[in-house]
Amino acid sequence: MFFFFQGGITPRIQQTIKKSFDKCFVPNCRGGRIDLVEVKQTLSVFFIPVWAFGSPQQMIYCNTCENFFDVEMYKDWKRERNNNGRSNVIMVNCNACGHHVERDWKFCPNCGSKMN
Ligand SMILES: [Zn+2]
Ligand SMILES: [Zn+2]
Repeated sequence: MFFFFQGGITPRIQQTIKKSFDKCFVPNCRGGRIDLVEVKQTLSVFFIPVWAFGSPQQMIYCNTCENFFDVEMYKDWKRERNNNGRSNVIMVNCNACGHHVERDWKFCPNCGSKMN
């Protein structure tokens, strides 16, 4: 559901959690740096943000191609890339929802709960 001419709901960055922590995985955006950001869904009318709502969520943002990516999408890509080399990613289960999360992540990408 997109409203290109009047407005719409897009993620808007609230804060940057981790800056330039990896490279963009979009094939035609080679070398762009991606940030881990906290976003809120924001309603924009005529490109002016008027209302941020919902709970903040973590997303990946590329400064070069200006795209937002799901954290899960990034992790899938990274897992695939690691499989080509050697990977020793330790997975733990989220206490709240049981989702498999890498041990070094601070928040569950599925439900947003803080990881211990
Ligand atoms: Zn990019
Ligand atoms: Zn969870």
